[in-house]
Amino acid sequence: MTRKVVEFPPRTTNVSSFERLESNVQSYANNFPDVFEFAEGAEIWANNGKRYLDFLSGAGSLNYGHNPSELKSELLKYIENNNISNSLDLHTKAKKEFLDALDEVVLKPRGLDHVVQFTGPTGANAVEAALKLARRVTDRTNIAAFTNGFHGVTTGALAATGNAYNRGAAGVELNGISRLPYDGYLGGDYNTVDYFEKLLDDPSSGMDLPAAVIFETVQGEGGHKVASDAWLQQLQTLCRKHKILMIADEVQAGCGRTGDFFGFDSSGIAPDIIAVSKSISGYGLPLALCLIKRDLDAWLPGEHNGTFRGNNLAFVTATAALNKFWKSGKFEAEISQRSVLLRQRLTKITEQHRDMISETRGKGMMMGLAFSDPELARRITTHAFQLGLIAERVGPRDEVLKIMAPINVRMDHLDEGLNILEASIEEVISTSPHSKFAD
Ligand code: PMP
Repeated sequence: MTRKVVEFPPRTTNVSSFERLESNVQSYANNFPDVFEFAEGAEIWANNGKRYLDFLSGAGSLNYGHNPSELKSELLKYIENNNISNSLDLHTKAKKEFLDALDEVVLKPRGLDHVVQFTGPTGANAVEAALKLARRVTDRTNIAAFTNGFHGVTTGALAATGNAYNRGAAGVELNGISRLPYDGYLGGDYNTVDYFEKLLDDPSSGMDLPAAVIFETVQGEGGHKVASDAWLQQLQTLCRKHKILMIADEVQAGCGRTGDFFGFDSSGIAPDIIAVSKSISGYGLPLALCLIKRDLDAWLPGEHNGTFRGNNLAFVTATAALNKFWKSGKFEAEISQRSVLLRQRLTKITEQHRDMISETRGKGMMMGLAFSDPELARRITTHAFQLGLIAERVGPRDEVLKIMAPINVRMDHLDEGLNILEASIEEVISTSPHSKFAD
């Protein structure tokens, strides 16, 4: 694999601490060069007083916005009381309350008889644990992963990730994965589960029987591509037939982003292992876990471990998020109200710019505009930042401008952010060399 060479501007001595002391590996900071200091909900202020609307939401780790007051009050009380902060995997009151809330609000209503494995606090760590366990339980090594899938950048997770730029940095061979086409990858009518079935049924296809398939219900980094409910159901039927485990990577699509708590809820499937992270703490605090079907919990004590598996501050805010947002069953309607507006406005923008935008992509509050020209998408997000909107790009060529406002964003903020997006699109295309408006 050849590694893409990136040119960096030469460093001078008269640069800020970030440029002088922080590694070149930083990336979001390159696109949004300001120093941020305060934030509330969808609003974020830089230290020079400039206000932005944040439609990046910590890449899906701030689904309830910045510093949600319902969670902050519980966190402050907990800290003020000298309650436990780090506890390895010891039992604490905060952990018990989180487990009970998860059981009552998430597991039981879905009929999921899953146990909880707390992994190190990143999505990649949860994915690593899921892959390891699936291989252990089935005594097979191969894992099926999908085109454009993103599962993290630690070696095991990176093998399952499609992105060539990230894979190029691995430094070792990335093995043990069979790549399959995701839903829609081979064109609208081509059923890619049928293709998988054909490979499994053909003893000479060359694909070793996988231990598991790992999939996102909506591919976040891959460009907000959505797997249909029918596709997920067919995938489950096939996996059950061949005793292949299903690993749902809900790291980004989970915790309400698609409109339901899990991205797979609308399909009714029950994955064997579910990797959860990003917004599970609800406050941007690091926390990750795997939900494991009870009879698959083949771990021996401490086999997969890590110091930071007991982030009690995250347990406190996670419990508050489940109880205050999800317990009543009314939250989904709030998300839906916002996602209807979001889809309407993005669809209108797409229709107005058919020559540049191929489609409105995504589900729920995980939406985006797919541009034909990645450079145009880059210029629009750069200009939007100047106008006060933080929005990123995803997709194989960074061609999808993604809108990830908080799922409970204030309606006036959603409107304001989308107005900025529209203004940015108009201003950029009117100055584009190919524009019909340019002189
Ligand atoms: N899975 C998915 C679907 C993700 O979107 C990400 C992060 N973007 C990861 C795994 C990895 O999570 P982390 O960056 O916390 O390791």
